[in-house]
Amino acid sequence: MSLSNDEVNSSESEGFINENNLQIISENSLAKTFEELGLKSWLADALKAMSINSPSEIQKACIPPILKGKDCIGGAKTGSGKTAAFALPILQKLSEDPFGVFALILTPTRELAFQIADQFRVLGNGINLKECVVVGGLDMMSQAIQLSRKPHVVIATPGRLVDHINSSAIASFLGRIRFLVLDEADRLLSDTFVEDLAVIFDSIPKKRQTLLFTATMTENILHLQDTQEDPNKKPFVYQVKSDISTVSSLSQYYVLIPSHIREPYLTHLLRSEKLSNKSTIIFCGRCRTAEILRVMLVELDIRCTSLHSTMSQQERLNSLGKFKAEVVKVLIATDVGSRGLDIPVVQVVINFDIPRDPTDYIHRVGRTARAGRGGTALSIVTERDIELVRNIETRINKKMEEWEINENRVLESLNEIATAKRVATMVNFYHFIFLKCLIRC
Ligand code: AMP
Repeated sequence: MSLSNDEVNSSESEGFINENNLQIISENSLAKTFEELGLKSWLADALKAMSINSPSEIQKACIPPILKGKDCIGGAKTGSGKTAAFALPILQKLSEDPFGVFALILTPTRELAFQIADQFRVLGNGINLKECVVVGGLDMMSQAIQLSRKPHVVIATPGRLVDHINSSAIASFLGRIRFLVLDEADRLLSDTFVEDLAVIFDSIPKKRQTLLFTATMTENILHLQDTQEDPNKKPFVYQVKSDISTVSSLSQYYVLIPSHIREPYLTHLLRSEKLSNKSTIIFCGRCRTAEILRVMLVELDIRCTSLHSTMSQQERLNSLGKFKAEVVKVLIATDVGSRGLDIPVVQVVINFDIPRDPTDYIHRVGRTARAGRGGTALSIVTERDIELVRNIETRINKKMEEWEINENRVLESLNEIATAKRVATMVNFYHFIFLKCLIRC
């Protein structure tokens, strides 16, 4: 494999290619201000209004080549300024030749789509940007009306965009796009989205700039650069080094307990002096578990809200809004909440279920200890999870420490928690029956 860097040999991005074909840029050859990266002052002003005064590493590396028309593959974790790294050059190019639809941003989850749209809206305020979010779970008709008004930027999840392509004339709008962005590209390029992406790629011009950003750089993504034979058209590739694993400001703990008493331990942790009143995300593997935990914790007077795929999109947005605004301190989420969400306030991540894939663990715990702040990750490990935890520790190259817990205090509350769990399971059961009846009616 060879990667050309002759298109990116400006003073801003001098460097060399390492053995993994990643662009290495020496720190002192990088621009220090947004203007030095080639961005116009109205964009620098919009950033200042957000108290962002200097570019982050991924922005320093990727903005100049994108402005020069290069395709780009960027690896950086959430919170590193990845979204602005593609939004800023797109907005600048849009301001030079405004039309709609100018850019299509694809992302795997609905919440991420709204988060990206928020950043475009704020940064593009100076040019009256019209952006449109096209995701499942919300009214298709109003999305179709918005699309017919030819927004400058469409931010979409693949499935719903394909529904629109198949059912309306918007495919012709996509026929002129200049930029395609795949955010969380490793996830978008997985089997789940293959068919939808094929339909979308057929509806957009071949001549365009393609930008791939991911928090997890995979071999598959790196191989994409080889599909381009013309060395002048090879993408610029850059990965921020610290993304490989978890950050050092994150403290990682485990509690080892029998699987049938996870709920009492979870409740004890949430009530404990160290963790109560901290902004906490509890991750679990299934929507049903998340819902039972939510009802159980509410029964136990612990204010919480949830985020999973059996909730309506409006419920998901409301829930996330309450958590972000710190109206509610505890969010119970499935892995729909593990990727990309930028919630600055998260202090603790609890893994109620241990994820099978160590990458999911890294994404989950990456919701805390962001932007140099400290954070705590606590995994509830049962007799069934030992091997999974070993795999995670190998991947993060770190041993988790044991969290001290007073078992007698946990045992004291067994009855109270068993009652709350029974109520929660009943509520969940009746909800399920109610939904079944509703579907039959
Ligand atoms: P990301 O999820 O990687 O797009 O990061 C988004 C978060 O990073 C948002 O809270 C932005 O306000 C923030 N951000 C973007 N660029 C910068 C920067 N250059 N310096 C500090 N924060 C930034």
